[in-house]
Amino acid sequence: MQVPLAILLLDLDRFRDVNDTLGFSVGDELLTAVARRLSDRLRVGDAVARLGGDEFLLFVHLAEDAGEAAVVAQRLLDSFALPFPVGDREIYVTATLGITLFPADGQGLDSTLRRAHMALADAKRAEPGGFRFYSPEMERQVALRQEIENNLMPGLERGEFSVHYQPKISTVDGRVVGLEALVRWNSPVSGMVPPSLFIPLAEERGFIVPLGAWVLRTAVAQAKAWLDQGFEELVVSVNLSGRQLANREIVTTVKETLAASGLPASLLELEVTETAVMADIERSLLVLEELAALGVNLSLDDFGSGYSSLSYLNRLPVNRIKIDREFVKEVGETTDDSVIARAAIAMGHTLGLLVIAEGAETVKQVSFLHDNGCDEIQGYYYSPPVPAERLQVMLAANGKRKPTSA
Ligand code: C2E
Ligand code: MG
Ligand code: MG
Repeated sequence: MQVPLAILLLDLDRFRDVNDTLGFSVGDELLTAVARRLSDRLRVGDAVARLGGDEFLLFVHLAEDAGEAAVVAQRLLDSFALPFPVGDREIYVTATLGITLFPADGQGLDSTLRRAHMALADAKRAEPGGFRFYSPEMERQVALRQEIENNLMPGLERGEFSVHYQPKISTVDGRVVGLEALVRWNSPVSGMVPPSLFIPLAEERGFIVPLGAWVLRTAVAQAKAWLDQGFEELVVSVNLSGRQLANREIVTTVKETLAASGLPASLLELEVTETAVMADIERSLLVLEELAALGVNLSLDDFGSGYSSLSYLNRLPVNRIKIDREFVKEVGETTDDSVIARAAIAMGHTLGLLVIAEGAETVKQVSFLHDNGCDEIQGYYYSPPVPAERLQVMLAANGKRKPTSA
């Protein structure tokens, strides 16, 4: 009878940082120390080998079931709580594990390794520092991602993308003061693909740059058309991804897009997420300063979901903060969300910024935000994102149109 084996693929987290900051020889010594610790923690008869880079392959014999592999995996990960001695210093590093069973999960060694890699990639994405078992669902997810990736660029060329607009309502007079442009993809292969699925893939692949430029062009042209029809002072917001923010090319793109359309810069807003800005704050500051110099508005999106240092927040050339949907969910219901939302509003105002809340769905949320001085509200309560034609009907009813041109 074949002995069931668990194949564990272990990868160090952020090992590149060690190499980059402390040098390759320290990196090498760290790998040796990790190898030593791993083999110390294994049972007699189990084995560990370095696959290359910072990846280690471990073979663990199972007397019982997969649960036993989970116990071993956790024990190995726990052993990273202690620092690794390297020369005269101590280095802390964490690791992530992908696990597959042999022969239960795969046929040959090749496919077993592939599955361990898949489980590792999944763990890295979902739970760095933890472990994941391979499951056939991962196979489907990988295939789906592959399909989406392969169809992004052709999809843009075939005109499968569109832009929807969601109104932002002023709490002062209840009128539409702005619109957020949100990209939509109707793929003949995969159907309606939500942005939460394709935007991260587009970012990974760099496709976000041409796609983002297309959204910007489309939204700016639409805003100019509305301006020409007499809908004045409507500010259109376009989301920028971290990848776009990391490159000064975006400044030229925005400048040229505005010039080509004739839309005044003051009627464009760019939304950048707190997380993207803070990922490389010095670089972000540089790009944001240049964008602000063009005269466009800047908004800090998903505020509260990342970690802004207050000193940086004060230096960012933003006009608005947008409170993350997560904190709007239960305002007026739980004290936690209410306290956070109230604090965010007060802080924004202290910094001289306008505060907008996203994701408001109920009358309770809306009246809480209203009562607590939030300046603008966006959410299904007023309207979901809709195609331009439908929004136009709403705008006309809203009285945003210049009376003379009505
Ligand atoms: P975001 O910028 O925070 O956009 C708000 C999201 O919340 C949108 O999801 C919107 O449809 C949704 N939403 C609005 N009101 C409500 C509500 O009352 N309840 C709930 N549950 N949801 C609401 P969407 O369109 O799926 O977009 C998701 C994210 O994808 C956006 O988050 C943004 O980060 C990204 N995204 C969308 N379009 C673009 C784009 O053109 N470029 C870039 N870089 N990112 C985009
Ligand atoms: Mg946004
Ligand atoms: Mg948001």
